[in-house]
Amino acid sequence: MNAHPTRDEDFDLLALGALEGDEKQALEAHIAACADCARRLAEARGRVALLSLAAPPVRPSPAVKQRLMNQIRASAEPAPQPRAARPLESPRSASRRWWNAILIPAGVALAALTIFLWRENRLLDAQLAALRASMNDQQHQLDEAREVAELMTSQNTITVALAEQPGAPKGAAHVMYNAKMNMVMYDGAIAPAPAAKTYQLWLVPVKGNPVSCGTFSGQPDHWMVKVPEGMSPKEFAVTLEPAGGMPHPTGPTVLMGSVS
Ligand SMILES: [Zn+2]
Repeated sequence: MNAHPTRDEDFDLLALGALEGDEKQALEAHIAACADCARRLAEARGRVALLSLAAPPVRPSPAVKQRLMNQIRASAEPAPQPRAARPLESPRSASRRWWNAILIPAGVALAALTIFLWRENRLLDAQLAALRASMNDQQHQLDEAREVAELMTSQNTITVALAEQPGAPKGAAHVMYNAKMNMVMYDGAIAPAPAAKTYQLWLVPVKGNPVSCGTFSGQPDHWMVKVPEGMSPKEFAVTLEPAGGMPHPTGPTVLMGSVS
């Protein structure tokens, strides 16, 4: 194994892709066999990434900058030729040399700018998505509030008081029902349901089977639910059911009220 590199900036240059030839091969061969230097290269890659991403920018050491600029200059210069055979530099090749000197650093800057803009873009996308979600949420709440207001003020809404049943948990509630909106609103409070049990509200029609209007746990509860069209309720009832609710009432009746 060859010796550790003596110049710290070699790691930065390798990470930048600016180390060439024998120096590059020797360092890479050494790093492949030396965990310590592999770690130093990883750190240098981190610094190089920060160069293009961090604000304020992290600067490489002046030695790195000097060697990088020398390499850019060297790569822009034509190979030396025998003096006698060397023609006068044409204005064209002189301008190409200038272009190279400008375009190579510009390419690096453009790559950094591209990464920066890509990150900005992703940030903006995320912010936009969050705004959109919050707007949808607010719209949803507004729609709900509007429906509640409409249900509570409509002349077609009936209110049914639900009364406690003998031997059942204590509680009181009322239901508002609107046959045009096909909406039921429940507002009430019952002692919390026992473990593995749930309360379930039913619309009991004049004809046909009771229709479930939702399950709840029995603290103060308040919700609104859509029911099938054309219901003609005879009464509303709350029963105690197994957790998750049932398709038809099976448990004891806890609260009940008739539609007058
Ligand atoms: Zn080493």
